[in-house]
Amino acid sequence: MTEAMFNVLVVEDEAELRGVLCTLLRAHGHRCIEAGSSERALIEARSHRPDLMIVDLGLPDRDGATLIREVRRESAVPILVLSARTLETEKIAALDAGADDYVTKPFSAAELMARVRAALRRVTRGGAQQPVLKLGTACVDLDARRAAGAAGPIHLTPIEYRILAALAQRAGLVVPQRQLIGQAWGAERIGDAQNLRFHISRLRQKLEPDASRPRYILTEAGVGYRLVPEAAADLKWSG
Ligand code: CA
Repeated sequence: MTEAMFNVLVVEDEAELRGVLCTLLRAHGHRCIEAGSSERALIEARSHRPDLMIVDLGLPDRDGATLIREVRRESAVPILVLSARTLETEKIAALDAGADDYVTKPFSAAELMARVRAALRRVTRGGAQQPVLKLGTACVDLDARRAAGAAGPIHLTPIEYRILAALAQRAGLVVPQRQLIGQAWGAERIGDAQNLRFHISRLRQKLEPDASRPRYILTEAGVGYRLVPEAAADLKWSG
């Protein structure tokens, strides 16, 4: 995949990991700005106006979530969090503070770059969703509200379309459960977590090749869900 060059600010106090991240980003054609502390990160963010920030949650001078909140007061830059922690509450706190997504340490280069691409897509596409989603043999046209699989048309309910649309708007990125419920059910929020789980399970049965081992509609335990469609840039509706 060819990527345009972006300026990425890497905020990580471990110099070795920071070096690895920058080497990886440069290998993918991006420019890398480094910061080893929150204080430095704020200075670099103001002077370089990066296209993406990668922020470690465990920083020496300030909690990562606090830094994110400070950045968010001035900028809508995509923020990807690095978390060594398995506590879902801390990931949710980072997302609530304004982070777009997280990667849990240890992570692979492929995993990190997939998240980087998804976060940058929010900038380059302005958050517009893909009109046609491809999930294996299944295709879903969100605009026309039609879906088809290898065996023919697939019926999706209005709520299932709304859940898919909310996930597709942030394709590749985690969508926190609360946000998904709000978007799918509207302001009155009659949906709850259990209800959401039920509809996600129905969507998997209808769209996934193997609903018991989802490949496209993924669960982020304790946080929310993530839709990972196949690249649909040159896809034509054929159903
Ligand atoms: Ca750290």
